[in-house]
Amino acid sequence: MKKELQLVLSPEEAYDEALFQKTVAEKSGLSSHKNLIIRTTKRSIDARSKKVKINVTVEIFSGQNPEPLINSGKDYPNVKNSEPIIIVGAGPAGLFAALRAIELGVKPIVLERGKDVRARRRDLAALNKEHIVNPDSNYCFGEGGAGTYSDGKLYTRSKKRGDLRRIMEILVAHGANEDILVDAHPHIGTNKLPILIAELRESILAAGGEVLFNTKVTDFLIEKDSIKGVVTSDGEKISGIGVILATGHSARDVFHLLSRKNILIEAKPFALGVRIEHDQKLIDRIQYHCQSDRGPYLPASSYSLVQQTVLNGKQRGVFSFCMCPGGFIVPSASSPGEIVVNGMSPSRRDGKFANSGMVVAVELEDLPKYQKYGPLSALVFQQEVEQAAWEVGGKSQVAPAQRMMDFVNNKLSKDLLETSYQPGLKSANFNDFLPEFIAKRLAMALPLMDKKMKGYYTNDAHLVGVESRTSSPVRIPRTKEGFEHPQISRLYPCGEGAGFAGGIVSAAMDGERCAEKLIEKYAKMDIGS
Ligand code: FAD
Repeated sequence: MKKELQLVLSPEEAYDEALFQKTVAEKSGLSSHKNLIIRTTKRSIDARSKKVKINVTVEIFSGQNPEPLINSGKDYPNVKNSEPIIIVGAGPAGLFAALRAIELGVKPIVLERGKDVRARRRDLAALNKEHIVNPDSNYCFGEGGAGTYSDGKLYTRSKKRGDLRRIMEILVAHGANEDILVDAHPHIGTNKLPILIAELRESILAAGGEVLFNTKVTDFLIEKDSIKGVVTSDGEKISGIGVILATGHSARDVFHLLSRKNILIEAKPFALGVRIEHDQKLIDRIQYHCQSDRGPYLPASSYSLVQQTVLNGKQRGVFSFCMCPGGFIVPSASSPGEIVVNGMSPSRRDGKFANSGMVVAVELEDLPKYQKYGPLSALVFQQEVEQAAWEVGGKSQVAPAQRMMDFVNNKLSKDLLETSYQPGLKSANFNDFLPEFIAKRLAMALPLMDKKMKGYYTNDAHLVGVESRTSSPVRIPRTKEGFEHPQISRLYPCGEGAGFAGGIVSAAMDGERCAEKLIEKYAKMDIGS
């Protein structure tokens, strides 16, 4: 017998495993049955009222074995001898494109400028401790891409639930906890992601695919408006039946290369601002309405804030971005001479601090001074802000910081708070170096956010800058149906860098789609032509 139930539980009933089993058995009226198997299929936290509730959907099996939770396994066909496709970038888009190609019987060759996850860790240590930015191995570049050392949040606004489920199942098959299949806001955590990424690579290699690290693509092999392959920084030419370009939003050299070769790219709106760090206990008190701490059962709380602002008659949103409960602020620059911050959390999210991007939507009409840079206008603007932060921070990875109320009152902070940002902070007035339209909108929005989260606007929180890599400042266009570049056949712009994804899961989904489109076209065409 199988029974499905929707329950509203207390945090203790939901998260204490023994109590959970007992409570569900009782509430289902099946507690007298022997060998009950209880499986959670959905779980979400409802903290709107003073008493926090957990909504849970469960399946209860009695005298019957449950059907398997995941359909995707690691049984990939061997594709060693097929004609290869070239995938540039081993981020989520590139890795999932590779796995999908394998499923469809085609060998992927993945080219990655950075190092494997383990070797990459040493460069991150050097970045945090010695302020050395390796332009090919950092928080943005290297195996697993920008999402490897992150919070591993797996939310997406995509409505394609079937595709989303596939990605989650593949992650579970490669070592992610099954909780990601049921939680409303699943996350993996920076301590678990690298192991999972290495498992994805192992599946690619075991099936006969190739993953080449320290292999930077510096040119394209194009004949008669059709891409035949790529050239690496060592001068090696690698050919294939098509190229999936999944180089992420930070590969500025790739955008410059496309521009130099007159391959169509477009400037794209994005968002820029700061990261805000609070004590996690304060955020918990606000979100969970508790007096002291959140107790042993509830996870560290998160938030999502949006505030519209009007300046010079123009409305722009100011919004929280990539909130990391119990996490760290990390130095995410991908070149020397710039400061970029982002956030990550361990799977338990048990750090002292809550940090989140707080960014302002930037439209191209906000950048009249940069129009001369054409498709690279938003990129140049982004880069200049990052360089300004670097100058202000003292030309290292020490980041500018300011207490929140001091920023709104245009006052340099006399002292700064404790921080999770390892390279260190320097007191600076963000009003002096952030573009005026960004600073003014942030200063308008922050006090108003206190109306949505009482206590959020406080001088016991600080701004750390700058949060500038929210999405790509450039779009690499592609056709709506075939996903090919409109000028260059067999070139498939993919993932976040091309402007078709935002976040780990949507990039992975886009990678799968690009592989399908490329292989679908290949199946139909005479490849010799
Ligand atoms: P990327 O992940 O950027 O991968 C691109 C890859 O291409 C990189 O590995 C790069 O080295 C490689 N590459 C670039 N140029 C070349 C070249 N010329 N030759 C060869 N290889 C090249 N998203 C979430 O959904 N949840 C989170 O919790 C989250 N936290 C984040 C935390 C941090 C610190 C950062 C930096 C990002 C975070 N993100 C998060 C964003 C997420 O990582 C990206 O949206 C996602 O990784 C985009 O995937 P992608 O494959 O399109 O590109």
